Amino acid sequence: MADTLGVPFALGVTSCTAALIVALKALGIGYGDKVIVPANTFMATAGAVVNAGAVPVFVDVDDSLNLDPHDLERVCDEEVKAIIAVPILGNPCDMDAITAFADKRGLPVIEDVAQSCGATYKGRYAGTIGTIGTFSFQMNKIITAGEGGAVVTSDPTLFERAVRYHDQGMFRQKERYGITSSEADHALIGQNYRMSELTGAVLCEQWSKLATINSRTRQLHAELLQALQASLPSLRTRSVVDAEGYLGSNLGFLLPDAEQADAFIRTLDAENIGTHLLYGGAPVYRQPQLLHQHTVDKTGFPFNYPFRHPVDYAQQPCPRAENLMARTVYLPISPLLTGNDLEQIAAGIVKTCRALTLFGE
Ligand SMILES: *Cc1c(COP(=O)(O)O)cnc(C)c1O
Repeated sequence: MADTLGVPFALGVTSCTAALIVALKALGIGYGDKVIVPANTFMATAGAVVNAGAVPVFVDVDDSLNLDPHDLERVCDEEVKAIIAVPILGNPCDMDAITAFADKRGLPVIEDVAQSCGATYKGRYAGTIGTIGTFSFQMNKIITAGEGGAVVTSDPTLFERAVRYHDQGMFRQKERYGITSSEADHALIGQNYRMSELTGAVLCEQWSKLATINSRTRQLHAELLQALQASLPSLRTRSVVDAEGYLGSNLGFLLPDAEQADAFIRTLDAENIGTHLLYGGAPVYRQPQLLHQHTVDKTGFPFNYPFRHPVDYAQQPCPRAENLMARTVYLPISPLLTGNDLEQIAAGIVKTCRALTLFGE
């Protein structure tokens, strides 16, 4: 994995949730810290921050449905200790803008590329551009080993802390990496997030298919988009910062409003074409456990920290995510689709747009 991605260090763990916790702990983040998380992401991104003992603050999205770098200034106070960038459904983030902001503030960037394994930004793999990257091999992701995850970095100190945190504070194969630190000084109290040998064996085989899966999906996506653009003069899809690096594992339609998005989904369903909103069409902070800050700890840890600027998710801090997530409809594109499937899907979408007078039809 490290060889493919062009980084010195990759560490297999049990899941991407574990990978995020390991990455945060490697960076020394915990109680009393805040971490910037995009409003459009899976619960695991925010949940990992809480499980690491820190508190998420939410940054808005733009038309790419990824983190809007222009909104970072608004949410970044002196209690923020890291930024998590999440390329949603194969669409790379605007990493130049994000790292420029992070560098200015001296903040590390974690790339949670759970949904975008193999995506690139300006020729570099997503997950290798920030300070540390996290991957998922859960069933719904680009490639799967059943469950599984990985942490990737170029920083030997972060790698050592990640290895130790994921394995009860130990580093079993230091010599292999030329790391000579003493146990007395560097051992720490960690966790068990070790990837099993069985998962590793499955993943080795799956990893060898990654490039083929992604190039097929990209090709199907490009063909479908071209067919739709030819028939739908004002088609609107989510914006993409690097078309070459985009995986094309989904096509994201930007509908005019939530009501029309709902009608679009229902009409396509009648054509046997499955589409969906992501996460119920609402920002992650609307999930009740985050909204009400419910954790398993009876003290309210970690939300009980006396922050100078307290967080209150009920304020609905991200109006564009509220608006865009409710009207962005995703069509998953499987690498197993045939040319005939693709024609039927394109015809069904055009028919639906005619029926609903969408996108210039
Ligand atoms: C799926 C997902 C995760 C969690 O991955 P697991 O391997 O299931 O723990 C984290 N972040 C994002 C953005 C995801 O989509």
